[in-house]
Amino acid sequence: MKVMKFGGTSVGSVESLLNLKDIVNDEQRPVIVVVSAMGGFTNQLLAMCEQAQQRDISCLDTLELARKRHHDAIDGVVIEPMREQVHATIDRFIDESLKPYYLALATNPHMPVDEIERVCDAIVAHGEILSSAIVTGMFDDGVPHLSLNYMRTVPDGAGRVLDGEETERLVRRDFADLTDGVHVVQGFISRDKETGDVTNLGRGGSDYTAAILASLLDAESLEIWTDVDGFMTADPRTHPDATVIPQMTYAQAQEMCDAGAKVIYPPTIAPVAMKHIPVWVKNTFNPAAPGTVIVD
Ligand code: ASP
Ligand code: MG
Repeated sequence: MKVMKFGGTSVGSVESLLNLKDIVNDEQRPVIVVVSAMGGFTNQLLAMCEQAQQRDISCLDTLELARKRHHDAIDGVVIEPMREQVHATIDRFIDESLKPYYLALATNPHMPVDEIERVCDAIVAHGEILSSAIVTGMFDDGVPHLSLNYMRTVPDGAGRVLDGEETERLVRRDFADLTDGVHVVQGFISRDKETGDVTNLGRGGSDYTAAILASLLDAESLEIWTDVDGFMTADPRTHPDATVIPQMTYAQAQEMCDAGAKVIYPPTIAPVAMKHIPVWVKNTFNPAAPGTVIVD
């Protein structure tokens, strides 16, 4: 079984979602598909949090634009029998969850700082919740999953880290008998092991979600589908002669990620390296390109 992760641009438009569909339909079942939020939406959700805290409720206008963007995507890609249900799901999360959260931020000047953080963490999780509803509805064998049920974090200084043990226990429980189908999982989002509050794995964390699942479920490979042809020898914007690196080791990939190559979120490498699972970096917009493979 493969784990395939699709980033924000890969789920960001009707065109890219249709590419995703073709790419996944070429795969055997079961397959696990991990998705990011629609490109740019995570930034928007956070910017709206800032606005709401300044009592600027024009953030609700931005929210309406985001609603329309999701509905347009549904009309373009979700299969007919699922369409109405997915439209309703998007509206429900926006009207019953996101809006009340933003209004709470905008109308409660005395909200304690840790409560503001909790609300914003809950808000930002909606990017992946909404995109995954759309992607599930694209496949007649789509199976919805909720990574909030098994990805667990614990506090770590000012931030948080994955609770590997608890996550492993819960992933094994949730994926015990994986039926055939396209199992769609939200990247990035998690819960605090003690409080149950919604948390996340850090910006760019969807890659990490995919790597953790690949590692715990002994996937045959992890594919990171993005908007570049793979790791490049240099930044193509400043080095037009840069070429794709066809193959690299985990150590080389780790070094490049740590040095700031934006292709993969740095914590992604370790869980798959430990299990010797090959990682492919592939381009959703150019699936025929060979990409980069990362191996021992
Ligand atoms: N949506 C999240 C972000 O923009 C996680 C991800 O895309 O990997 O950071
Ligand atoms: Mg990313």
